[in-house]
Amino acid sequence: MAATESPVVFLHQVERQYRQGDVVLDVLKGAELAVWSGQMVALIAPSGSGKSTLLHIAGLLEHQDAGEVFIDDVPTSGLSDSERTRIRRNDVGFVYQAHHLLGEFTALENVMLPQMIRGLPRKQAEARAEELLSYLGLKDRLPHRPSELSGGEQQRVAIARAVANAPRLLLADEPTGNLDPKTSEHVFRALTQLVRASRLAAVIATHNLDIAARMDRRVTLKDGRIIELE
Ligand code: ADP
Ligand code: MG
Repeated sequence: MAATESPVVFLHQVERQYRQGDVVLDVLKGAELAVWSGQMVALIAPSGSGKSTLLHIAGLLEHQDAGEVFIDDVPTSGLSDSERTRIRRNDVGFVYQAHHLLGEFTALENVMLPQMIRGLPRKQAEARAEELLSYLGLKDRLPHRPSELSGGEQQRVAIARAVANAPRLLLADEPTGNLDPKTSEHVFRALTQLVRASRLAAVIATHNLDIAARMDRRVTLKDGRIIELE
């Protein structure tokens, strides 16, 4: 990493509250986090501490109440909804605990779709989807629907889908949370392979400490702030 390189994502003094009736819940209270290209950051914190909220804000799925989210140095809070959507579609990939694949489509089609939504011709989308799925060891699973795949295979398809549009930032919310240790290991390797090959910036919320130990950095959320571990 060059000293002058900007972070792909920079959360600066981010605050987020949820209001439920008269109750105000301060979830983020000045969170600071910068992640550079090629870096995998593990976000390890107890349930309810704000991991999902932080990832949603970093990926422009949700608005912060105060503070700023910079994507490649661009402040995003003043952007229109359509500008935010464009950045999210082009520059951000999400992976969740549940795969959220579309059940009526094949593995190949699930990875083609985000590219076609972005306007890529079908042939090109298909070629890239096939390449990505093969890279993740799923070459013989292309025509299968999600229900015909194992949990680990489903999650690898979800990872391929997340990076189909060549994002700069990958956000994963407990991506191995539903998987047994051996399958978790496969899925984590798939994630690592892609982050390294494409020099993505990645933030991965996880409860798996073995996996977290092999990432580049570990952070936690405490009282609404990010604390660097070690
Ligand atoms: P984590 O992912 O670490 O479990 P979350 O970001 O999901 O934490 O949630 C942090 C806190 O904010 C929790 O107490 C949760 O109940 C609350 N929360 C999350 N989303 C909402 C919402 N849309 N409305 C109200 N409260 C919410
Ligand atoms: Mg969560």
